Amino acid sequence: MAAAPTDGTHAGTHAAAPAAVDPERYLRIEGVRKEFDGFVAVDDVSLDIRKGEIFALLGGSGSGKSTLLRCLGGFERPTRGRIVLDGQVLDPLPPYERPVNMMFQSYALFPHMTVEQNIAFGLKQDGLSGDALAARVGEMLSLVQLAKLAGRKPHQLSGGQQQRVALARSLAKGPKLLLLDEPMGALDKKLRSRMQLELVNIIEQSGVTCVMVTHDQEEAMTMATRIAVMDQGWIQQVGKPDDIYEQPANRFVAGFIGSVNLIEGIIDEDQPEYVTVRTGDFPAPIYVGHGITGYEGQPVAFALRPEKVYIGKQEPDGENNKARGTVEDIAYFGSHSVYHVRLPSGAKVLANFANMKRWDSDGITWNDEVWVSWDDNDGVVLTG
Ligand code: ADP
Ligand code: MG
Repeated sequence: MAAAPTDGTHAGTHAAAPAAVDPERYLRIEGVRKEFDGFVAVDDVSLDIRKGEIFALLGGSGSGKSTLLRCLGGFERPTRGRIVLDGQVLDPLPPYERPVNMMFQSYALFPHMTVEQNIAFGLKQDGLSGDALAARVGEMLSLVQLAKLAGRKPHQLSGGQQQRVALARSLAKGPKLLLLDEPMGALDKKLRSRMQLELVNIIEQSGVTCVMVTHDQEEAMTMATRIAVMDQGWIQQVGKPDDIYEQPANRFVAGFIGSVNLIEGIIDEDQPEYVTVRTGDFPAPIYVGHGITGYEGQPVAFALRPEKVYIGKQEPDGENNKARGTVEDIAYFGSHSVYHVRLPSGAKVLANFANMKRWDSDGITWNDEVWVSWDDNDGVVLTG
């Protein structure tokens, strides 16, 4: 059992002049799979993560996010695959020998120690003392803006302040990789959105590369430079927050991120410049103003965000991309309302209406006959 790690470490230290590491591939997750008694929790995941980025693993409960994160930290050993950080293969190394720090949801601060002592603890264990220790602790205190509270014990701090201490302690040794598992889990909603921005600021200032796990799409969208959407151990899509929102790769991602109208149909015309989709819900085919990779007769879904749908009493011009229906429900959200429009087919289309506009909502109310419509490039055709 000890042989493999020793060999691995040894081989690493003997590599004389390692080639420069591509900052675009600072952390490489190569075909990582994790099985528990034959159950596949992480299914052959490959990802390249950039130096200094905040990368989010986003998915529902049980999708394998924490297991993948624990593989990065060394708390789980992948069944197969490889993890390489800054040119170093991590897999043979136990957690404490990795240049990686994991901040746990419970923070695990030492209750009997002050803020300063909590931050100093790991540094002292590494043999730091005197001026060097004081300087590093001071640097961390100012990074998380807690210098004034250095003498307090954890129970004398708010939840947000405790989180900042935990973050300072995680960053004190200058890890190459910071791992966060549901970092806001212990905070209430209002504090959470403030801490999301504070954490991003601190992480960016420190320059550390960060992989975080969350089930909360808003949190991922707010904090991350890129997001991997996970389901059943699989990466469904990797992209910047707006890419994932505007160009979801498949039905799962479209449905998981935000609210969406998903309309099933088949490709009618497949042209280089446009496609049309025949559905059982709209009188005329849906016209999409760009080509896709598909074929005529292919079953697809048309994904349309509610904020892209117009609603009005007048019939819009044009043949395509409109339908008549009945307002079945109106949900008020302050800045906007969501109209639930039932089509004759039985399908329902959600349409957002901004309440802050100068005009009112055309006097549209329950049971009104209305038209829903959208522009040629406002929806996405999903083949997966
Ligand atoms: P997530 O963090 O996305 O909620 P996890 O990575 O914690 O998901 O879990 C993924 C799947 O792997 C779940 O079905 C979970 O029950 C299973 N799993 C996780 N850890 C273990 C373990 N130590 N033994 C057996 N099954 C596990
Ligand atoms: Mg988890």
